[in-house]
Amino acid sequence: MSFNDNVRLDASQVQSAGGGGGGAPGGMVVGGGIGGIVLLIVCLVFGINPGSITGGTTSSSGTQDQVQSSTGGSLKAECTSGADANKDVNCLVLGTVNSVQAFWASELPKYGKQYTPVSTVLYSGQTQSQCGTASNQVGPFYCPLDKKVYIDASFYQILQQQFGSSSGQLAQEYVIAHEYGHHIQDILGLLDRAEQDPQGADSGSVRIELMADCLGGVWAHHAATDPVGTDRTTGKATTFLKPLTQQDINDALSAAKSVGDDSIQKMSSGQVNPESWTHGSSAARQMWFTQGYQTGDLNRCDTFAASDPERSTS
Ligand SMILES: [Zn+2]
Repeated sequence: MSFNDNVRLDASQVQSAGGGGGGAPGGMVVGGGIGGIVLLIVCLVFGINPGSITGGTTSSSGTQDQVQSSTGGSLKAECTSGADANKDVNCLVLGTVNSVQAFWASELPKYGKQYTPVSTVLYSGQTQSQCGTASNQVGPFYCPLDKKVYIDASFYQILQQQFGSSSGQLAQEYVIAHEYGHHIQDILGLLDRAEQDPQGADSGSVRIELMADCLGGVWAHHAATDPVGTDRTTGKATTFLKPLTQQDINDALSAAKSVGDDSIQKMSSGQVNPESWTHGSSAARQMWFTQGYQTGDLNRCDTFAASDPERSTS
């Protein structure tokens, strides 16, 4: 259980949505038009949403059902502490969003930048983003048009059962930290580099994705040591996570491995074709997460400075 039991959670950073499913599992993504199809290809796993490539799609109002905690209550009522995050996956998403945002709000000013908080939309089934339809067929993503992260917590079962990731909490937290890494890149003005060079083992897209993995590692480095949370009993500053164990890190690395382009290609077609990579190999995703985790330093995540981001971090 990775969360500090007493850390206070802030439900205002997560919006609930969804229920507009209707489609059978495996059905087509609807509502995105051509944008939706591109979305399906480019953003299979943890993609940055390419709505900005396609010009985006007009948002239609999604059904706004409430996502509830496992006990059936609202997130605000049920997810109040780290202990709740340790036992309920929706509270875990909320707690991770809180932790990641509190970290970057304190960290970015050290680099002369201000952090702008953004919401996560926690949906069930599917919902609309300004970048197109969000669903588990697309996977979690960051939409630079509306500046929100989209995730259906049931994606974690897919990550585990179809992609072979560990089910450990840090594996799940890594997904959120990766998506907020794209928000950091948006703040830093880097996201365009993925659009300009969208495919290939040393493409801009792969470098952007590997950087997001590294930024996830930077968060993990600090999450158990930086007192950017608040103890709900004493009101004093505290950390969001408990000290990380090697097992926690192994869980995050397992998730990073499971979503490498080579692993996914092997699984789906038996062939590995680096020319079509968008996110990087399993080895590179693990390597860059580790680089961020070991250094805790944003500046050590410059994947564009690496001559070959698949082989070397510098
Ligand atoms: Zn990504």
